[in-house]
Amino acid sequence: MEDVIIIGTGCAGWTSAIYTARANLNPLVIAGEQPGGQLTTTTEVENFPGFPDGIMGPELMMRMQQQAEKFGTRVEYDLVTSVSENSDGTLTVKTVGGTEYLTKTAIIATGASPRWLNIDREKELVGHGLTSCATCDGAFYPDVPVCVIGGGDSACEEASFLTKFASKVYLIHRRDELRASQIMAERALANKKIEPVWNTEVKEYLTDDEGEMRAVKVVNNQTGEESEIEVKCVFVAIGHDPNTDFLAGSGVALDDDGYVLQDGHSTNSNIPGVFSAGDVSDHVYRQAITAAGNGCQAALDAERYIAALEG
Ligand code: NAP
Repeated sequence: MEDVIIIGTGCAGWTSAIYTARANLNPLVIAGEQPGGQLTTTTEVENFPGFPDGIMGPELMMRMQQQAEKFGTRVEYDLVTSVSENSDGTLTVKTVGGTEYLTKTAIIATGASPRWLNIDREKELVGHGLTSCATCDGAFYPDVPVCVIGGGDSACEEASFLTKFASKVYLIHRRDELRASQIMAERALANKKIEPVWNTEVKEYLTDDEGEMRAVKVVNNQTGEESEIEVKCVFVAIGHDPNTDFLAGSGVALDDDGYVLQDGHSTNSNIPGVFSAGDVSDHVYRQAITAAGNGCQAALDAERYIAALEG
């Protein structure tokens, strides 16, 4: 019987591990499909407190893991396929590797995955002028044209944010009307540096001799006309999907978009002993530091839950 199983190894998962390990709960972390989470796909992180010179995303995650392991966290490189509640209040966690764990608590920290366009060379260009995070990468593109793809709040927010750095921001949307809330849409459209490109879909990423982004090839879906837009960086902001497929049938309550619901200010799910932390429950802030903070909260909630069981 485990005290705590932590599912996921992004900022939320490792922070939960550091806290539960220091509380002598001997946590077991199950690493998941993309060990280290979203930060392993970014380059330099300049906004994580404590690193005034910045730190590379993968290195930050490696350090979090080292810190968790230093206090006795155990790690299994496996993928969780289900979490279920047993009649005695314990939980069973099953993995793709065929292992079944019995645990008093589980912290779901599986994060969210940005949606991509699924066009050619997309994976290889991430970090070479293609990103899904303006907050992370915007400052690397001063005084050059960039584009944001999408028409929701994220796209508008990112486009507005990017005008602090870029010489021009094309907002490329597949329809002629933004999905974003009125205030965000109005703010973006009123900004002289933002040029909306309506009814337009990106078909291809075009790179220079160094393999860095040079332009996007787009098509107007009303006229069929193709053209190129010169940009040094493409920010894809077409939404995120929480990684909660494995919770189907678990009874863990999700919201309409599939995010794990948390009870008020706590990290409690609807199932006693199941907690969640980070982007898997947060579609608003989605920052490394907010995920880490929420991971800490989940660890404290799990610790109190176990203490109450042992009463
Ligand atoms: P979203 O609201 O789902 O918007 C996604 C946008 O991407 C839509 O405009 C959609 O086009 C477009 N899109 C989706 N798939 C596409 C594809 N394959 N090709 C081209 N375009 C595609 O996602 P979001 O903007 O990330 O927002 C998610 C949630 O977070 C929302 O509830 C939002 O309000 C919230 N949020 C809030 C704030 C804030 O309040 N500060 C900031 C960010 C996000 P269509 O419009 O044609 O469907």
